[in-house]
Amino acid sequence: MASTKEMIERFKKEAPLETALPYRFSNGFLLTEITGQCKSCKKEVAGDHVRGIVNKGFHDVFSFDGHGICTDCKTIFAIHGRVKPHKDAARQEYVKNGVWVTAFPFEEAKPIDKLRATLLRVLTFFRLV
Ligand SMILES: [Zn+2]
Repeated sequence: MASTKEMIERFKKEAPLETALPYRFSNGFLLTEITGQCKSCKKEVAGDHVRGIVNKGFHDVFSFDGHGICTDCKTIFAIHGRVKPHKDAARQEYVKNGVWVTAFPFEEAKPIDKLRATLLRVLTFFRLV
């Protein structure tokens, strides 16, 4: 585990995760935001307060490794995981005890993305695409 000093050093030099977004998955879902939850006070942090390294090198996987800084209690905490398509939206996963587990699904697909996913399914059904 990295020291707090190492975590802060990384945070200072790494880019906000939002600079690698939006990311479009094959099911049409558009990932627009990665947030982190403060380990101390549970506040949700986003934007410039969530920074790290992003890997978009694998098809349909948006993975990230970085840190969040809480705007309320100033705690710095590690965040890592990956986002993959799930049904007509996506889900975020992280490693727990050596295996990938689901952190939470992104239930709220934007209406246009739901429409696009539905349209794609209909077109696929009729074998037009
Ligand atoms: Zn906090």
